Amino acid sequence: MDPTYNDEAEAYRKEVRAFLDAHLPAGWRGAAAMGDQERETWTAAWRQTLAANGLRAVAWPAEYGGGGLSPLERVILAEEFTRVDVPLEFGNDGFGFGLLGPTIIARGTEEQKRRFLPRIISGEDRWCQGYSEPGAGSDLAGLSTRAVLDGDEWVINGQKIWTSSAQTANWIFVLARTSPDAPKHKGITFFLVPMDQPGIEVRPIKEMTGHALFNETFFTDARTAKENVIGEVDEGWAVANTLLGFERGGRATVMSISYRKELDALIELARERGRNRDPVIRDRLAWAHTQVELIRFLGMRTLTRALAGDGPGPESSIFKLLWSEYHKKVTEAAVDILGADALAPSGPPPSVAIGVAEGEMTPASVVGTFLGARAGTIYAGTSQVQRNIIGERVLGLPREPRADSGPWNELLRT
Ligand SMILES: Cc1cc2nc3c(=O)[nH]c(=O)nc-3n(C[C@H](O)[C@H](O)[C@H](O)COP(=O)(O)OP(=O)(O)OC[C@H]3O[C@@H](n4cnc5c(N)ncnc54)[C@H](O)[C@@H]3O)c2cc1C
Repeated sequence: MDPTYNDEAEAYRKEVRAFLDAHLPAGWRGAAAMGDQERETWTAAWRQTLAANGLRAVAWPAEYGGGGLSPLERVILAEEFTRVDVPLEFGNDGFGFGLLGPTIIARGTEEQKRRFLPRIISGEDRWCQGYSEPGAGSDLAGLSTRAVLDGDEWVINGQKIWTSSAQTANWIFVLARTSPDAPKHKGITFFLVPMDQPGIEVRPIKEMTGHALFNETFFTDARTAKENVIGEVDEGWAVANTLLGFERGGRATVMSISYRKELDALIELARERGRNRDPVIRDRLAWAHTQVELIRFLGMRTLTRALAGDGPGPESSIFKLLWSEYHKKVTEAAVDILGADALAPSGPPPSVAIGVAEGEMTPASVVGTFLGARAGTIYAGTSQVQRNIIGERVLGLPREPRADSGPWNELLRT
């Protein structure tokens, strides 16, 4: 099987390549090859270039300021940008463009679409995600942050944790309990909350990479307007799941392009260090090759589903499990190829900790990517949780025993 795109898609690919040729600086080597300062300056200018050419929020309808591209055109665009290491999104964009925007389009009111979508595109609103709590991660419905209506405003109290990029966000989407006596999946509401207020405090959490990309977020009588609710009050669980589908299924076809580039660089590193003659390393690299091919084919299957107009399905869990476990193992192989050099890399790990090693592979970038890859099997639903979903919803296996019901519980009680 060698999946290909139709003529229309290939014609659009040529347009995108022409755009990149016309707008990228001569001798472009990719965003990862730039120093931090240089990348920041370039990024600010590149944002403007994208905006001027209608390439921010390319999938959104034009009436809300989006590019109005078809799903296939969007995929081609993402593939071509990934191929030359040019980002389409920066900083908090992933939450606004990738998660909240599509959720508002799917479930928001007309007024919410007109109010929030253009402000994501302009960069005026920078979003972060307030789902996880110290006592509610995989079991997200166990969350205990509370919201109570007080006149025209909701008052929110509680704590969120692992809030990525909260330090640069000015809005947060929050799941909070509005009917404490209802069964736990009912009684949850999806709120949009401004962060610039005394009731919200953000405290950074330092990660093992040395960077602080995520935070604890505290709500003490924080307020948001009555109308800043997506979907119905007490019906936020369905909205939360719509958003999670976008989180797990996104970047379906570009993932294999990034991983292919990374693996090619790793094979080159093994060659340079003479490790390509080690049969164990060769075996691991051959395994990695087959995994990247599997990720490519699964990405195409996910794309086919999306093009048929279906929302994110079980493929998003299979895909999430496959890419995150792959990346954890291949970065372990990368560290083994480096050997002792991985123990004391010079310079700090790159701040793109949860990504793919791009450009030249240095000991610091390999170790940074290795550390960051550990997170991939945790965020957006852990590997164990994805396996449960695949087992129960795809394979139709018996449900996992729950703590509060089922025959296992009866057995445990006796
Ligand atoms: C880099 C990173 C960024 C993140 N960013 C955000 C963010 O911006 N906003 C946000 O809200 N959250 C964020 N998270 C949090 C993330 O969603 C949670 O860490 C994740 O949902 C797991 O929850 P937990 O950490 O509470 O672990 P737990 O749910 O406590 O899980 C602990 C262990 O138990 C296993 N386990 C749990 N339940 C089951 C089960 N039913 N069956 C089998 N095994 C099970 C898990 O797989 C895991 O190994 C981020 C996490 C990371 C690592």
